[in-house]
Amino acid sequence: MGTPRNSSSLAERVEELLAPGGPLPIAEAGDPVLRRAAEPFDGQLPPALLARFVEALRLTMHAAPGVGLAAPQVGVGLRIAVIEDPAPVPEEVRVARGRVPQPFRVLVNPSYEPVGEAPAAFFEGCLSVPGWQAVVARPARVRLRATDEHGLAVDEVFSGWPARIVQHETDHLDGVLYLDRAESRSLSSSRAVAELWAQPTPERAAAALGFELPGPAA
Ligand code: ZN
Repeated sequence: MGTPRNSSSLAERVEELLAPGGPLPIAEAGDPVLRRAAEPFDGQLPPALLARFVEALRLTMHAAPGVGLAAPQVGVGLRIAVIEDPAPVPEEVRVARGRVPQPFRVLVNPSYEPVGEAPAAFFEGCLSVPGWQAVVARPARVRLRATDEHGLAVDEVFSGWPARIVQHETDHLDGVLYLDRAESRSLSSSRAVAELWAQPTPERAAAALGFELPGPAA
């Protein structure tokens, strides 16, 4: 697992974070921890503590509720994220957005690259930007390289909504928020999205709010 740097202090901070039990506080936009590149995980947390930390991320993600959570969102600057999406959506939404269920996964040291040219643009939100959503055009398919929580290599192509989740969470580890990639004119309160823009695709929102959607898939 390499030679941990500052491992005792980071492990101690995570121990303190986990001590109260229950969901962890989530950092919100404006907190510098969300803008720093997280450091690669290299054994800074011993295995038992890593397992407890991952479980706390899962608990916090469920409680929010959300479909992904990255370690910096709970103030820990390590390249670790969790994802899970039961995808409780209507059939037409599932088809339009490719929102298929994504089982729980732990992504350690993830990176991704686009597969093909086709972008997909949909409203997206973030637990660190509560109350708001915006349309983000992202590659519809990505190749993810990572390891799992046991150090086993992951090299896998994701598509549809799981591809969006993987990109969003990996971006967090680079200090990138979805707003950095969003169509700023699409910015909508969660209430506006629920009342006006719940269609399977954001075409009506684009026409009404005046933003561009990517052209037909290449
Ligand atoms: Zn987020």
